[in-house]
Formats: sequence, C-alpha cells, structure tokens
Amino acid sequence: MIETNTDWQELRIGIKGICKYYPESYWQELDRERKYPTDFVKKLTKEGYLSCLIPEKYGGSGLNMRAASVILEEIHRSGGNGAACHAQMYIMGSLLKHGSDELKDKYLHKIANGTIRLQAFGVTEPSSGTDTLSIKTKAVKNGKKYKINGQKVWTSRAEHSDLILLLARTGKDNHKKRESLSLFLIDMRKHIGKQIFIKPIRTMINHSTTEIFFDNLEIDEDCLIGEEGKGFDYILDGLNAERLLIASECIGDAKYFVDKSIEYGNQREVFNRPIGKNQAIQFPIAKAYSRTLAAELVLIKGCELFDKKKQCGQEANISKLLAAEASWEAAEATMQTFGGFAFSEEYNIERKYRETRLYQIAPVSTNMILAYISHKILGFARSY
Ligand SMILES: Cc1cc2nc3c(=O)[nH]c(=O)nc-3n(C[C@H](O)[C@H](O)[C@H](O)COP(=O)(O)OP(=O)(O)OC[C@H]3O[C@@H](n4cnc5c(N)ncnc54)[C@H](O)[C@@H]3O)c2cc1C
Repeated sequence: MIETNTDWQELRIGIKGICKYYPESYWQELDRERKYPTDFVKKLTKEGYLSCLIPEKYGGSGLNMRAASVILEEIHRSGGNGAACHAQMYIMGSLLKHGSDELKDKYLHKIANGTIRLQAFGVTEPSSGTDTLSIKTKAVKNGKKYKINGQKVWTSRAEHSDLILLLARTGKDNHKKRESLSLFLIDMRKHIGKQIFIKPIRTMINHSTTEIFFDNLEIDEDCLIGEEGKGFDYILDGLNAERLLIASECIGDAKYFVDKSIEYGNQREVFNRPIGKNQAIQFPIAKAYSRTLAAELVLIKGCELFDKKKQCGQEANISKLLAAEASWEAAEATMQTFGGFAFSEEYNIERKYRETRLYQIAPVSTNMILAYISHKILGFARSY
C-alpha cells in the first residue's frame, strides 16, 4: 500500500484498526441487501470518532476538520463507506454555531455519547432539486408552535436518525426569497407513522435514502435554529464543512482504487507477464494518482483555513470538485485493470465504482461547483 499523507497517524491507525473488523465482505453483504451498517456506526460512535467535531465541553473529542477528514478518508480507503454517518459530523455544525444554548445543552452530549442520532438533513424537495430557494415545505407559526407540511426527497439515513435538521419556508410568500427560509432541529421519534412518514428509495448504491412526508407536524418554537429567516444562510455556512468532508471520502476512494490496481496489476499474468508491465495499465493509474495528490493538497489547505476560521469557500469547493473527479478517474482505471473480474461482485470494484459515481452529483453536483467558481471566484455573470 502506498503511503501518501501521514498526518494524524495515531488517528489513522485507530480507524484502520476498527475497519479491520468491518472488511469488504461486510460492506458487500450490506450492499446486496441494502442494509444500514448499524454495527459499524455504533462502534465509531462508541470510540468517539463520530463526535470528533463536538467540543469537549459537550462530551465530544473536540478535534478539528482535518481530523474528521482523515477519519472519513481512512474508512473509504479501507473499502468501507462513511455515508452512513458522515452527516452527523457536518450537520452538527449548524446546531453548534447557530443553535440556542438550550438546544445545545439538550442534544450535544447525547449526540456525542450516541444516545441520540443526528444523521438526517432535509433540504432537497422533488420540485426544487438544486434550486434550494424554491422549496415548498412550510412551517407556519401559531402561538408557540410551528405546523409543518410538505415533502422532502433524498433525505438520507432518516430511518436511522432520531433528529432531523430541516429547512422549511416560514415566510408568507412563496417566492424564492432566502429570508423566508428557516432551519429546525426536530426530534422525529414520536411522530413517525403519525405526522412524519418515511419511504425508502432503492438506489444503485446502498445509501439508506428516503422520501419524507410531513403532515400537520406540530413542533415547539424552540426547535428553531437561530433566527427565523436565516435558515438558508446557516446552511450555506455549513456547506464548506460538507464539501471538505466529502472530498476526503473521494480521496479515500481514489487511494483505495489505486491500491487495488497496483496489487492486481502486479499479480495478474496474461501473455506470461504481469498486466501491470503494460503502460496502458500503468499510465491511467499514474494519472489518477497524481490528480488524487493534487486534490488532497487543496483539501489540506481548505481544512487548515477552516480550522483557523478563515474563508475557505474556494478551497472547499475546488477540493470537492477535484477529489470527485480523481476518484472517478481512479475508478475507471481500476475497472480497466481488473477487466472482466471488475464486474464480479466478489472483487468489490463494481460496488466501489457505483458508490464513487455519486460524488459528482451529491452532495452538490459538479455543475454547481463550477458555477460557484465561475460566479464567485472568477466574476462571471450568474447563469441562473
Ligand atoms: C444518494 C443521494 C443522497 C442524497 N442525500 C441527500 C440528503 O441527505 N439531503 C438532501 O437534502 N439532499 C440529498 N440528496 C439530494 C442531492 O443533493 C440532489 O440530488 C442534488 O442537489 C441535485 O438535485 P436533483 O437531483 O433534483 O437535480 P436537478 O436539480 O434536477 O439537476 C439535474 C442536473 O442538472 C444540473 N443543473 C441544474 N441546474 C443547473 C444550472 N443552473 N447550471 C448547471 N447545471 C444545472 C444539475 O447539476 C444536475 O446535474 C441526495 C441525492 C442522492 C442521489
């Protein structure tokens, strides 16, 4: 196995130690049955890895973004998938940064020790898609309560989460105004099957994603995060963390593919010599590896800026873009290296290939990152 970055060595060793007990056969079986990796998530929670971004005063390990990034990278490099639990790391930031002291005291300790799960993030709706400002789910205030009606789609892990961070429209108008969107932290447990209905969506990867319907759900006003009308701003504020962490998963996937290609390319013999002797096998891997390292450098810089509380929009977006492309390039090269055997479930390449394709679409599509770079960094006129 090639060694690239070796920062946070102890953390890497700890995660690798856990991942050994959850080998590729574990992920393969879950994938086949579209099941959630409950044991794996419990173990990560118990060992404190999922609370790495929660400050110590709330029972977390109080580490930084780079540490969180290394955790997800190592999970992916081992052949696993952090999607089952990654949302907790970045969703929690909205509560930590913008939630009231009461909400933080109520939930953060419990999230850190695993008695409450915060894995669901409800933003996307069927008709809004990428255009978040046009969401229709409404939260109407009446006295000290809000009544919520509407529908979300692609809300991943909702069946495996107690809380949901929900973006809804509180303004009276239905226009695309950011000031009419608000963010809520809702305990779903006693409402499931009554005012909250969750319907799983079977997808090409094992992602536990769902549709959620809200039917006259009444919640207390103290479920509101921060101020009414600032929900969209709070979400934007959390996006850099999301992008850096997803870039880390892509880096882990890319390294996984490079490792697999080297091993297989050196060992598989055809025409009485290893296939890895052919430059047609070597060069695509060499290219993907180079792109992976380039993406990783931008990612490390992004994490550094994030941890110093400096502007990191450029690095977060560009690292996500480059890392998603690098992991896809590595996946393609590895498919070719494995030839026919890439299609066999036994080798896991087809599973990881399907999984890593997601990153060019969600969270946040490559197109929208290119639009961000064009508009916000390069100063082109907005295209939408
Ligand atoms: C497996 C999975 C898990 C997900 N998990 C969650 C989750 O937990 N919570 C959540 O809220 N959402 C989640 N999503 C939603 C995801 O973020 C959306 O799929 C994504 O935002 C795109 O929305 P859409 O699929 O409706 O695509 P659309 O908005 O319909 O876009 C379709 C295509 O057109 C492109 N496009 C649209 N407008 C433009 C434009 N102006 N310029 C250039 N290109 C454009 C898009 O980039 C995309 O490629 C998940 C999605 C998937 C597939």
